[in-house]
Amino acid sequence: MIRTLIQLATGGMATQTQMFPDLPAYNRGLPMLTDSPCTSCGNCAQACPTDAINVGAGGIVALDRGRCIACGQCTAACESGTLKGDLGTRVAVLRREDLVLTNRPAQPAPPVPTQPAMFRRSLHVREVSTGDNASDLEVGAMGNPVFDCGRFGIHIVASPRHADALAVTGPLARAMQEPLRRCYEAMADPRIVVAVGASAISGVPFEDGYASANGVSPILPVDVFIPGSPPHPWYILHGLLLAMGHPAARG
Ligand code: SF4
Ligand code: SF4
Repeated sequence: MIRTLIQLATGGMATQTQMFPDLPAYNRGLPMLTDSPCTSCGNCAQACPTDAINVGAGGIVALDRGRCIACGQCTAACESGTLKGDLGTRVAVLRREDLVLTNRPAQPAPPVPTQPAMFRRSLHVREVSTGDNASDLEVGAMGNPVFDCGRFGIHIVASPRHADALAVTGPLARAMQEPLRRCYEAMADPRIVVAVGASAISGVPFEDGYASANGVSPILPVDVFIPGSPPHPWYILHGLLLAMGHPAARG
């Protein structure tokens, strides 16, 4: 007993106490745009396997993180340094359009919506996988001792009857479209839908396949978009805490 207590007191803690730390340097992260001017060479758009990048006149680049599988091809192809990897983990958004980054000179931006404070102290999440096991594993990792989503009141539940949030992974394979609708209908109001990962947001890389709905949005209204392929557990926690109106997620 004494030995156990000493071990507990001196053994350190696995759980990350810093909120949304940057990814380790060996990680690529999602691409981002820098202030370095774009030469309009088009290498990034050519290299991108998911058509996530559009290079317009005058070196105006639009980068859609909702279509990005984080392969790193664009940052490797960009000699000007206009594109580089982003190690930040606050990447989830409440509006689909906010996933599109651009180096266009700043326009007056519409106010960013805040989630009504319906789930401030706890969020019960029903996860439905529609064909993206990598993202499923990261949702599972969110509950391990390192990320410990339970400390924020976030719990994965087995029944939609107990759920506040429906977290969906995968591009919505045809066979899963009706079960997903029924799962949503079984949830009580208020309820939210969270698209977890690039395939749930836009269907990539299975977009326009005969059995794909190209993501959740054509089937259900989505409240939170979490990019990545698969998303890091901190990305997922960011999206869920954003939905809960947690102050640390807004910063
Ligand atoms: S990292 Fe994303 S945007 Fe860049 S090439 Fe890969 S899929 Fe396209
Ligand atoms: S972002 Fe980089 S790779 Fe893409 S067009 Fe501009 S300079 Fe070329």
